[in-house]
Amino acid sequence: MKVTIYGSGYVGLVTGACLAQVGNDVLCVDIDPDKIEKLRRGESPIYEPGLSEMLQSNQAAGRLNFTLEPEEGVQHGLFQFIAVGTPPDEDGSADLQHVLAVAGTIGEHLDEYRIIVNKSTVPVGTADRVRARTREILDKRGLDLEFDVVSNPEFLKEGAAIDDFMRPDRIIIGTDNPRTTELLRALYTPFNRNRERIIAMNIRSAELTKYAANSLLATKISFMNELSNIAERLGADIEAVRNGIGSDPRIGYQFIYPGAGYGGSCFPKDVRALEHTAKENGYDAELLHAVEAVNFRQKQKLFEKISDHYNGDVKGKTFALWGLSFKPNTDDMRDASSRVLMESLWENGASVQAFDPEAHHETQRIYGERDDLRLCDTPEQTLEDADALVVITEWSQFRSPDFDLIRDKLRAPVIFDGRNLYEPETLAARGFSYHSIGRQTLT
Ligand code: NAD
Repeated sequence: MKVTIYGSGYVGLVTGACLAQVGNDVLCVDIDPDKIEKLRRGESPIYEPGLSEMLQSNQAAGRLNFTLEPEEGVQHGLFQFIAVGTPPDEDGSADLQHVLAVAGTIGEHLDEYRIIVNKSTVPVGTADRVRARTREILDKRGLDLEFDVVSNPEFLKEGAAIDDFMRPDRIIIGTDNPRTTELLRALYTPFNRNRERIIAMNIRSAELTKYAANSLLATKISFMNELSNIAERLGADIEAVRNGIGSDPRIGYQFIYPGAGYGGSCFPKDVRALEHTAKENGYDAELLHAVEAVNFRQKQKLFEKISDHYNGDVKGKTFALWGLSFKPNTDDMRDASSRVLMESLWENGASVQAFDPEAHHETQRIYGERDDLRLCDTPEQTLEDADALVVITEWSQFRSPDFDLIRDKLRAPVIFDGRNLYEPETLAARGFSYHSIGRQTLT
């Protein structure tokens, strides 16, 4: 089948590569010339495990192409996927300018039936606005052409995006037209082989489902972070509590890890956007507000612990930082906890020596060259002449480090662990002052 995808970011590229991988003819459209240039050269503009190889092989097979020309995009695919960004506006609402720009573009070039499939995360009612924008442009052109709009929110996780797309837990299709459900069902057949994964519903429910999923996951994280702050004050160990509650199948172990707060391009903006939508519709979403407030506070947590340890004076100190991306296996730094920490350290006169397996390029893009930030080639290099080690992203290579080497290289044996990767007793026995989340500090 012929598919066009607007937006060559994390969602658009993974969708394009996976749909091409199963034999579809995919054309990806973006407005960023550098991105398209890179993609045409066979380079992925983002880091996502397995994506580069998949882009290259499908490009070589002629099933995956890239263009800056929206007209080509509209002509190419029966399915017109929208996978552009929906960043937060200042008031927390989702900024729909990119989504509506694509809807307008489709209206400008449409000359036969097309299905507009929205994959971007958008507030309830957006499909109506997409339909209205496309119709408005068609009216201006004096054309009465048929098209459908479908909501097909994406649930992939950065870091495991290819696998999530190829073997999804569910494929949500929100339509008001049974014929489009069947056409999308046919497109998704290769991803729906072993058990029924397609859940069809009306458009508004599909739009809300995406926000509901992300908000519930964010709620679990904020709940555990709240509990970790209580545990610290009570002399309890949040990791023991986590084990204790996760064993209940009604609770489960997933997404109940305490830490330095959630980040990324989705949870923070989606929780705020849903809260905003609720407010616009006359409802004060107190729980969502609290989820975001707890997360905001949790992101300051590591800096508070560091500041307390040095009696409020970190000026002139150097911190080794392990991890920069908002979670492992991605180079994405959007709303990353590392940024809140680094910015607090810099504001207070400290410097950072950081290592991340994938996010140096992104860090440099955001912060440029600065005297108080050194990006190191290895985790070990960050330790040289550093006052303490701070772990903020749980990349697997940080899980079992050489503690003797860390102790020898640091100016003092101090570790702040924002992801509870290590055992307090073990580290105390090795002479470290070890500070983690929701557990007692042993020295
Ligand atoms: P992204 O910022 O990585 O990519 C968006 C791309 O869209 C950019 O390359 C941009 O240049 C392009 N673009 C903007 N306007 C355009 C236009 N008019 N025509 C063509 N291209 C245009 O964004 P992303 O992370 O892929 O997210 C896209 C959407 O999917 C968002 O709504 C997001 O909330 C949602 N989502 C993201 C994830 C994730 O893990 N990143 C998961 C599920 C859903």
